Amino acid sequence: MPKPRLLLHVCCGVCSSYVPERLLPDFDVTVYYENSNLYPSSEFGRRRDAAKTMADRYGVTFLEAPYEPIAWTRSVAGMAQEPERGLRCTSCIRFRLDRTFAFAKENGFGWVATTLSVSRRKDVATINAIGDGLADLHGVEFLGRDWKKGNGEVISQERAKAAGIYRQDYCGCVYSFVLRRQRDG
Ligand code: SF4
Repeated sequence: MPKPRLLLHVCCGVCSSYVPERLLPDFDVTVYYENSNLYPSSEFGRRRDAAKTMADRYGVTFLEAPYEPIAWTRSVAGMAQEPERGLRCTSCIRFRLDRTFAFAKENGFGWVATTLSVSRRKDVATINAIGDGLADLHGVEFLGRDWKKGNGEVISQERAKAAGIYRQDYCGCVYSFVLRRQRDG
C-alpha cells in the first residue's frame, strides 16, 4: 500500500535537515518552500538553496513557491510593532501555511506539515491551531507536531553545520532583520 502524500512546509536549510527523516517512514514527503516573508530578497535565495541541499540529501522532491513580498506585507499591515510570537507572527505563519494548504489541495496531497515548530522561538500551540483551522478550511489533514521534542532543534543545527549550509541569525522578515542588527550594534 502506498504511503500517504504529505506536503512539508519548510522555511530554511536548518529546519530541513532533521524533520524529513521523522516523516519519511510513514509518508511520501514533498518539501515545499513557501516564504514570502523573507527580507531582503537575496535571503529568499540563500535559504532556498540551503533547504534544497537538504531535500536532495533525503532524496525528496523540492518545490519552490513564488516569492511575493508585497502580498505578505499586506497580510501583516499595521503589525510592525508587534513582538516576535505576537499577532504579526500569527498572521505571517497563517499566510504561508494557507498557501501551502491551497497548493496541497490543488495537487492531491492528503496531508500538510510544517517544520516551524522545530525552533524554540516559535509557539507550537499557535502553529498547530493555525494548521488545524486551515485543515478544516481546505479539506486537507494537518500533522501537528512539536519537532523540538527529542532535541530536534539542536540536531537540526548540528546537521546544518556539518553540511556546511547557510544558517541564518534572524527569523526572516524585515522587522526581525532590523531587530537583530540593532542587537548586534
Ligand atoms: S518574526 Fe518571523 S514569524 Fe514573525 S513575522 Fe517576522 S518572519 Fe514572520
